[in-house]
Amino acid sequence: MAGAAFIANSAMAQDRNAQGGPESSAFTLQTDQPRTPEQEAVRFDKADISLTILPEQKAMRGVGVLDFTALAPVDRLVVELDALFDVSDVQVDGQTIARDGWSNPEGRMTIQLPRTLQAGETTSLRIAYGGQPRTARRAPWNGGWVWATAPTGEPWIATAVQLDGCDLIFPCIDNSNAEPRQVDIHITAPSNLSAPANGTFQGKTDNGDGTTTWNWTVRHPNIYAVNVTVGPYEEVSGDYQSRFGNVIPMHFWHLKSDKPEDVQRLFAEFPQMLDFFEQTVGPYPFGYEKMGVVETPHLGMEHQTINAYGNAFKQDERGYDWLLQHEFSHEWFANQLTNWNADDMWLHEGLGSYMQPLYARWLRGERYMQRELANQREGLLNRAPIVSRTSKTVDQVYNDPTGPGGDIYSKGSLVTHTLRMTLGDADFFRALRILVYGRPDPEPGNFTPQTRSTPEFNEIVNSVTGRNYDWFFNAYLY
Ligand SMILES: [Zn+2]
Repeated sequence: MAGAAFIANSAMAQDRNAQGGPESSAFTLQTDQPRTPEQEAVRFDKADISLTILPEQKAMRGVGVLDFTALAPVDRLVVELDALFDVSDVQVDGQTIARDGWSNPEGRMTIQLPRTLQAGETTSLRIAYGGQPRTARRAPWNGGWVWATAPTGEPWIATAVQLDGCDLIFPCIDNSNAEPRQVDIHITAPSNLSAPANGTFQGKTDNGDGTTTWNWTVRHPNIYAVNVTVGPYEEVSGDYQSRFGNVIPMHFWHLKSDKPEDVQRLFAEFPQMLDFFEQTVGPYPFGYEKMGVVETPHLGMEHQTINAYGNAFKQDERGYDWLLQHEFSHEWFANQLTNWNADDMWLHEGLGSYMQPLYARWLRGERYMQRELANQREGLLNRAPIVSRTSKTVDQVYNDPTGPGGDIYSKGSLVTHTLRMTLGDADFFRALRILVYGRPDPEPGNFTPQTRSTPEFNEIVNSVTGRNYDWFFNAYLY
């Protein structure tokens, strides 16, 4: 997510997103809360999400089919779903569950299984729901659904739920350790609009009633990455020949009202950024799907393979689009490497923010890196350690006065720079690759997404260097 320090730069996006509406429960508005024993007793194999978007009512109808495998005997399923939604039907393995067999008082939904599931057995939970979802009060920092109007008059709709969780969109387990292995997404919207989404396009169907259904499938999505974006888009695309031998499709969905020269200039940055990240960190993690960017009414969000871009093609002294670069860094630091708990979120935002000075260096040389590092020193809070080593929700990290707030960005970047200077490039980048990919020699196809904590990063650094760097983590992070 774009950092709080950048809020001042986005007054326009804020105003456009100022919305009210029904409020979700305090439970639903938190994300990354501890899982229940029932949630820990299942593996989340697949979610199949069908969403019909009703722009005039600012509402949606949804069906979520969630497939689980039991890891231990379990007699109830527990998922999160915003209680603002009306649930019209609940089925387990095709069998309707009576109304007294499930409850969803605060957004943590409990479904009694018809029989106890033994370890290794699978089950399929189907929930039909709908209504007016929570509108984002100030996307992306106070998230939910954004119901905007494009300059050409059509509905322009987006979601941003990093601080609030996937349960504002579909039934899920709202915890960063509960990534489904696969999500199939079917978005039905008015036929004059497009619905680009995560992963690989699976075709679209004209329903003959003025609506079209867009079908997508994505592997291992980050839990807050699955999103809905609908608008009057045009698409530009191209192929990127990776240094790792694969070809990565690049897609940009932009408003049809955009100036062609703006679109072309930004799209020309896609291969440059791919080049930088693949050379500096390693293979683009989702080359088997796409590099995707979609223009949104809010500033930005790291939606996996469909980054939200709302920086309005602004140019500044950096010579590149910082918002695009920041959100794209999250494909490595958030979507490939996901924090164990929100307490470790500097692994997303600090490592991600350090990619900006490194990109300035890669583009223009050492002095430009130093300038970006100097800029990042402005406005440090230093009110709490970056990492508390206790379980936290995303909201506590960002907004609680005892949390690190914006320090997970710039201070995280500066600490990362200090670590790089301390270790030297060879050990630093080797440790970084092991952290991100789980191995020092990543190639397309030989790694899967990783979930890691700060102490695990410390262990990786110790192991790569053969020396004890606990003092570094104690001094700078804890
Ligand atoms: Zn971010």
